[in-house]
Amino acid sequence: MAKIHELPTILANQIAAGEVVERPASVVKELVENAIDANSTEINITIENSGLKLIKIVDDGDGIDPTEVKTAFLRHATSKISEQRDLFRVRSLGFRGEALPSISSVAKVRMQTSTGNEGVEVDYQGGKLVSEKPAEARKGTTIEVSSLFYNTPARLKYMSSPNTELARISDMVNRLAVSHPEVAFSLTSNGKELLRTSGRDNLLQVLGAIYGMKTVSKMVKISASDLDIQVNGYVSLPELTRASRNYISLILNGRYIKNFGLTKAVISGYGSKLMIGRYPISVIEVNVDPALIDVNVHPTKQEVRISNETAISRLVYQAISTALADKRLIPDAAESF
Ligand code: ADP
Ligand code: MG
Repeated sequence: MAKIHELPTILANQIAAGEVVERPASVVKELVENAIDANSTEINITIENSGLKLIKIVDDGDGIDPTEVKTAFLRHATSKISEQRDLFRVRSLGFRGEALPSISSVAKVRMQTSTGNEGVEVDYQGGKLVSEKPAEARKGTTIEVSSLFYNTPARLKYMSSPNTELARISDMVNRLAVSHPEVAFSLTSNGKELLRTSGRDNLLQVLGAIYGMKTVSKMVKISASDLDIQVNGYVSLPELTRASRNYISLILNGRYIKNFGLTKAVISGYGSKLMIGRYPISVIEVNVDPALIDVNVHPTKQEVRISNETAISRLVYQAISTALADKRLIPDAAESF
């Protein structure tokens, strides 16, 4: 027998899952991103036992045609890109075609979906299709992921406490909601509602739902643009700070990202107004031509390469320093509710 052989599909998918679905919060991220990419206006997320028992996501998006639903569960199968040059103009959150095959290889997954005509329901267990049947033709998709990591016990062992895993899910949903104020989100855990946003495309309202009105009343609107970069968002007044940089959220073309240079630009925008070791609460939305960013750097796409990072940093810095210097802007922020 030859020594070298291709791995069976399910094993290959489980290996990919090692990168894409580290924990329940990563499943939530991938599935909510799919719902956003499908043009949903409402996304309802239900969690049981910190996502290990159940993660259920109901959206009212485009749905999948019954003839294509099994293709969606194949590795590298996507409707979002088709050719090489598409990689440099990605507008969707997904494009790698990895989430559904990866998640379904390490859990039990039921998907009910319809484009508005016929509906279909498929069941996968450990990557294998176990049933496919006609279903209700409600436009949109419901996906239920249960018994996460039931067949990868090593992964299960690495879960933190239920509270920590739930906090990570909640944090992830908050970030997704902030990145997409035009979508109405709800998050319910073990029957308790943790977040509800209106979907009225009002970032300040979303921040209010997450942080509370008192916090939001101490935030200032920022805005700046040049030829091909737009910067918008809200930053806290210097008196409202946290002990960690984690409250500085960066959203690039609708995608929540981590970026050291831009985070530094936010802090620099405060000049000497922050105390040592204190950081603002802020949400910075940056929109640029997708050709200027490379999102194909990391499987979870939280790190991206930005070709005009210096120009964006300068604009972020300017937007914040101007807003904080101009106190007249403060009442405006509160009024726009
Ligand atoms: P990707 O998002 O990178 O394309 P996924 O494995 O996450 O890969 O999804 C595969 C495909 O299944 C998507 O390209 C999309 O066409 C379809 N899909 C997945 N989830 C949804 C959803 N909630 N609504 C509509 N289509 C979906
Ligand atoms: Mg996806």
